[in-house]
Amino acid sequence: MNELKLLSLDFDGTMVGPWLNGTAAVSQELIECLHALRKAGALLAVNTGRTLPLVDQGFELFPVRPDFALTTEREMFRRTPAGWQAFSRWNERCQQDHERLFNDAAQIMADIEEHVSQERKVRVYRESGRLVGLIAQNNAEMDEVVVYLQDQCKRVANLWFQRNSIYLRFCHSVYHKGSVLQALQAELGIRAEETFAAGDNFNDLPMLDPNLARHLACPANSIEEVKQTVSSHGGYVAEMAGGDGVAEALRRACPQLESAGKRTEE
Ligand SMILES: [Mg+2]
Repeated sequence: MNELKLLSLDFDGTMVGPWLNGTAAVSQELIECLHALRKAGALLAVNTGRTLPLVDQGFELFPVRPDFALTTEREMFRRTPAGWQAFSRWNERCQQDHERLFNDAAQIMADIEEHVSQERKVRVYRESGRLVGLIAQNNAEMDEVVVYLQDQCKRVANLWFQRNSIYLRFCHSVYHKGSVLQALQAELGIRAEETFAAGDNFNDLPMLDPNLARHLACPANSIEEVKQTVSSHGGYVAEMAGGDGVAEALRRACPQLESAGKRTEE
């Protein structure tokens, strides 16, 4: 089998979690697996809806620092001794495409804001004064918002969104966790056969694609849509939740980890 060279892991609910009383579970098993895989030369990319500052905040919880941060489901940063640096020209193009998109979509974004704040108790969030996302009170409410948005987004070419449970971020339709992973692979010269991807929510679906990662997995706490996608592509739905589930999947994908784990225990 091919060695794993790149891991594309979602953070919340996948690398860490589930949460109990506001505290995220951190899996010792996953920490050991990641140390062993990195020692063998694998690169770790956290592929997340978080912004870069929130990635740093998240990794205060988790002791294995990623080599790459793929943030807000679309931007790409490499960790260097001097801190995070934009990797390749991808971010520049991504930002220009979003600038153009949000200018084209100004009216519809205003309509969406008016609709969601009048009809529901959905909160909006902004970056640099611009509406970029929505937060619902619960999943049922976000289900309804998604139906409304699927229709509204038809009004502007390339306007789309990524959903993570009650959170939603507007985006250009070609940018998502799958396309940013593909761009990273192209930069690094790493193939799908050498890539492992795991996630638990709607925004992970674009990277849970066998054309991008031949090794697909999701933890037991994943939503049904993710479990079905991973299963339908012959990936592994873990029995354990969160990081323990990812470790379980990594040990299956990579039998050499089993012996590395046993040696650690001896
Ligand atoms: Mg998640």
